[in-house]
Amino acid sequence: MLTDIEIAQRATLKPIKDIAQSLGLSENDWEPYGHTKAKLSDQIVEKLSDKPDGKIVLVTSINPTPAGEGKSTVTVGLGQALNKTGKKAVIALREPSLGPVMGIKGGAAGGGYSQVLPMEDINLHFTGDLHAITSANNALAAMIDNHIHRGNELNIDPRRIEWKRVMDMNDRALRQVVVGLGGPLRGVPREDGFNITVASEIMAILCLANNLNDLKERISNIVVGYTYEEEPVTVKDLKVEGALTLLLKDAIKPNLVQTTENTPAIIHGGPFANIAHGCNSLIATKTAAKLGDYVVTEAGFGADLGAEKFLDIKTRAGNFEPDAVVIVATVRALKMHGGVAKDNLTEENVEALEVGMENLAKHIETIETFGLPYVVAINKFPTDTDAETRLIQSWCESRGIEVALTEVWANGGNGGIELAEKVIQKTQSTDHNFQRLYELDDSIENKIRKIAQKVYGADDIELSAKAKKQITLYDEQGWSNMPVCMAKTQYSLSDDPSLVGRPKGFSISIREIRPSVGAGFLVVLTGDVMTMPGLPKKPAALNMDVSDDGKAVGLF
Ligand code: ADP
Repeated sequence: MLTDIEIAQRATLKPIKDIAQSLGLSENDWEPYGHTKAKLSDQIVEKLSDKPDGKIVLVTSINPTPAGEGKSTVTVGLGQALNKTGKKAVIALREPSLGPVMGIKGGAAGGGYSQVLPMEDINLHFTGDLHAITSANNALAAMIDNHIHRGNELNIDPRRIEWKRVMDMNDRALRQVVVGLGGPLRGVPREDGFNITVASEIMAILCLANNLNDLKERISNIVVGYTYEEEPVTVKDLKVEGALTLLLKDAIKPNLVQTTENTPAIIHGGPFANIAHGCNSLIATKTAAKLGDYVVTEAGFGADLGAEKFLDIKTRAGNFEPDAVVIVATVRALKMHGGVAKDNLTEENVEALEVGMENLAKHIETIETFGLPYVVAINKFPTDTDAETRLIQSWCESRGIEVALTEVWANGGNGGIELAEKVIQKTQSTDHNFQRLYELDDSIENKIRKIAQKVYGADDIELSAKAKKQITLYDEQGWSNMPVCMAKTQYSLSDDPSLVGRPKGFSISIREIRPSVGAGFLVVLTGDVMTMPGLPKKPAALNMDVSDDGKAVGLF
């Protein structure tokens, strides 16, 4: 069996010009970044404002195993399958972060015969967007420290600076640092820390901005910290919104690439779904909707995280709604939810699978709560037995739930025809009624409670003393009208990663709430979730190499 990278390196890519032309783009709408990548104009949505949007299909999943359950793979495969059925489909995905690439996953560009290409570039530095976001984030950090060093006209309290530095790597040693050591020439000492780039508010802003002006406006609203009088200090106060937006002028343009079957894919922006909002950029989704009859897009991790944020945060920022949802389920993750240890997931175990189905059941209920039509996609792995896949199929069929066995990893688009046909049918149904989970004018506490109860199945929430104080402060500042962005483990419906299946009788501990006023949401930190991950004992990096002729080796 070929590895992902071997399949990717054997695929025949079309020149990116051909892909751009297949979308009806004119020369001014895009610029090449090498032979197989391009940047699209950030003004296509405006230019095509009279053109009706294509149908938007959101791909989500059950709570995953650490290796991922194949959402990206199914997203790519479904896009390819839709094309095979004669529809013009465009895929919209997130850009991978080097943290998980080097750490646990080794790649995030789909898999098998459903990949986006060139996968080495996409997984490594791609078109430099993540570097630009890192630079903008850290330019702001440097401006803050310089401001204090140069006399601190704004009276910023160095102990109350919320803005962290970032880097695009899992690096636990940088979670808490002290900067400015070494005497008066080296700045004012203060405690600082690093987040991973994909947790930066700049990443969230880039992904929620409708255009360059909106980007600048949101950047100027970022709250970097507080004065000694505890008044918020913003980027506008520091007068650097222009410079930061300038650093992002190319990063805001969506990236065009193609799949293993030459289906167009727009890959842009990449906040994690556990610590950030988990969706590719709004500009990418909207551009794809202008260029295709169908957009297949993904939101990270399970429906408790990515999909909830897609539906409560992203669709609000962009004023749209999806036409259908695909819920990806795998035999291996469902067996894990049925109590099987991670090392034994490849052995047949129908009994455990049956117990684990309750995790899928909860995510189905969540999508029903949002009032959206959906199809369950069983992402078939080579180790799945017929008895196991049949169990999931009959479980769904006996409840009147549309289900499709999906083999896009092994067979590309041909393995997803049944899924594509069912999805098309769902997008045409008119008997749905999309509704978000909470109203913006609900109190902060109630927004969090509604998500915890309706999506996670919690009894209630428990706010720390710090979180309670913060809620009072944010109410006073007039920030309580924003959506909330939950930061929670992806492995469990609860905030305890060890509680698999469908936990009951638990409450969600809210540790802290951080205002992302520029992005337009409040980040709610639950349990022990960290905004700077660490590397595992055996990082994926140990398998990687580069050949003498410069080819990537071991990127999964
Ligand atoms: P997610 O988007 O849910 O995190 P990915 O699509 O990135 O998951 O897939 C995670 C890994 O699992 C990839 O390396 C991919 O090649 C592999 N994978 C996905 N689907 C299958 C499958 N059906 N059979 C074997 N491997 C798969």
